[in-house]
Amino acid sequence: MENIKMPCATDKLFDPIELSEKTESIVIKGNKRKYLRFGTTPDYGTGIATGYAMGCNLRCVFCWANETRDNLDLVKGFYSPAEVFEKLSEIIDRNPRIDKMRLSNGEPTIGREHLLELLDMVEGSVIKMFVVETNGILLGNDESYIKDLLKFKKVSIRISIKAGTPEEYSRKTGAIPESFMLPFQAIRRLHEYKANYGVSAMSLDPRFMDPLERISLITRLGEIDPSIVLKMQEEVTYLLPVSQRLLKRIGWETNYENLPFFLRGLKKYLQITYNPISTLSQRRISIKQTLRNFKHLRHGI
Ligand code: SF4
Repeated sequence: MENIKMPCATDKLFDPIELSEKTESIVIKGNKRKYLRFGTTPDYGTGIATGYAMGCNLRCVFCWANETRDNLDLVKGFYSPAEVFEKLSEIIDRNPRIDKMRLSNGEPTIGREHLLELLDMVEGSVIKMFVVETNGILLGNDESYIKDLLKFKKVSIRISIKAGTPEEYSRKTGAIPESFMLPFQAIRRLHEYKANYGVSAMSLDPRFMDPLERISLITRLGEIDPSIVLKMQEEVTYLLPVSQRLLKRIGWETNYENLPFFLRGLKKYLQITYNPISTLSQRRISIKQTLRNFKHLRHGI
């Protein structure tokens, strides 16, 4: 096999479409794709059967899969869509509460034929849902890919946005800023098609998004449709040791300089986050405002 050098987070910026093609030439053979393993995670309510696919077209600094992502030769096993479906079905057979499947670890839209064949099998099965968790690069680049996915009724697409500005996107993912809008383009089309989709972003985490970038992200989503903002799933990064090693290597500062001194010993466990934007629609009784109202009434104002 041709030895193709994969970029890492500190390399010069790359075109994610070109990287998708390079990655595909390594992780896809015929209709088979490289997988690290198959397992379950407790996500999506009842848990989800997960295929850990190899290869991605971004190089996020917080990626927990970065070691296999950057070393595709570490794994040798190629699996056909039928074999993947069988592995995931076996997991579901052993865990009767689980009724969903997904691909994780890498970018599932790399290897289009492999994914579409797998979805075809899910469609004809008793499985309730297949979640396509994607960074949206390839879907934003090619509308026909979205149309192909929308042929499947059991597919739920979840687009993960990495940044709110082109500059921060390049800093966090290593990709050229010209590709920043691709995931937003995918969201716009999914919204127009009234698809079953959701948007997530690492936007609760002040270590990776400052308030101005967060506003920029929310504005861009709101321009597509304001309802997307209220439904967006905002996330905090769980810095597994593998992610911490990468951040340390590239010199990304994640310490809280403003943590009160008496809490600094707990730095490992405490997580500072923003309030979720979805709470904008929540209403509550404010004790402070109620007391102010009493005060005004007492004074007859
Ligand atoms: S898109 Fe996901 S898998 Fe790819 S580098 Fe970013 S975090 Fe890792």
